[in-house]
Amino acid sequence: MSAAEAGDVFHRARGRTLDAFSSEKEREWKGPFYFIQGADPQFGLMKAWATGDCDNGGDEWEQEIRLAEQAVQAINKLNPKPKFFVLCGDLVHAMPGRPWRKEQTEDLQRVLRTVDSDIPLVLVSGNHDVGNVPTPETIAEFQRTWGDDYFSFWVGGVLFLVLNSQFLYDASRCPALKQEHDRWLEQQLRTAGQRACRHAVVFQHIPLFLQTIGEDDDYFNLTKSVRKEMADKFVEAGVKAVFSGHYHRNAGGTYRNLDMVVSSAIGCQLGKDAHGLRVVVVTAEKIIHRYYSLDELSEKGIEDDLMDLLKEN
Ligand SMILES: [Zn+2]
Repeated sequence: MSAAEAGDVFHRARGRTLDAFSSEKEREWKGPFYFIQGADPQFGLMKAWATGDCDNGGDEWEQEIRLAEQAVQAINKLNPKPKFFVLCGDLVHAMPGRPWRKEQTEDLQRVLRTVDSDIPLVLVSGNHDVGNVPTPETIAEFQRTWGDDYFSFWVGGVLFLVLNSQFLYDASRCPALKQEHDRWLEQQLRTAGQRACRHAVVFQHIPLFLQTIGEDDDYFNLTKSVRKEMADKFVEAGVKAVFSGHYHRNAGGTYRNLDMVVSSAIGCQLGKDAHGLRVVVVTAEKIIHRYYSLDELSEKGIEDDLMDLLKEN
C-alpha cells in the first residue's frame, strides 16, 4: 500500500485540523447531530492478556479483527449516518519498535478502510500508539501512519479538540513537542472560552479521572495535579465533555459540570462490559451519550429516545 493510498482515509488530520470538516459552514450550528465513539481496538491485547505477557505477547489478533469488523459493520448500517467515527486510541497493542506492530497496523487499516466513505474517521493517539514515553520519532511514526497526533475541527458549530494525552503523561523525551501542544491547546481553549462555539468537546486517550477528580493516581488516569489543572482549564473554557478510552471498562463522572466519559473497548475487556461503541447525540443544549454492545447496535440500531433528540430543533 502506498502512502498516497493510505492518505485518503488515514491522513485527513493534517495541519492540525481535519480536512473532512474544513468548510467555514461547519462553524455554524445547524441542529442536532450524532457521532460514534470507539476506543481500544488494540489488536494483540487479547492474546497478550490471556498469556499474561503484555510486553511481548500479542502474536495473534484474529478475535480483535472480527470485533473491529463487527464495529464497522454496525456503524455502516446506521441511518441517518453519524457525522464521524472517533477512535480514542490504542489502535494496536504492539508498542513502537515491538514485534507485530506493522502487521497489526496493516490489519486494522484494512478493516477501517471499509468504514463508509461518508463517515470520516477521527483517530486519537494512545499510549500503545506513540509509546508510554513518546519521542519525536514515535510521534513522527504515528503521523506518517495515522495523521496528526493532535488537532481540532468544527462540526455544525461544535469545536472538537483531539489531544495527545501522552504529553500529559510523560513528555520527558519530547519536551519541545509538548510545549507546542500546550501552546496550541491554550489557543484552542481561548476560542472555546470566547463562546464562539455551541459546545466544545475533548477527545483524549487517557481519562483525566475514572470516577472523581480526587481519586488516587493509578495506571488508568492522569496524575492528580495534571488532571486538576487540565479539568479546571477545560471547565473555564466551557468544555462540556471529555471522551476517553484506555480503561477497557465503562466509567466516568462529573467535575464542575464537566462530563468525563470513559468508554470501554471495542477489543479486550478488562471488566464486565461488552465489546462496544458509544453513541453521542449533540443537541443545542446538551451532549447525551449511551454505550451499546456491538451486538445490540448491529441488531437493533440506536434506540428511539436518542433518535428523537435528533429531530428537535
Ligand atoms: Zn491505553
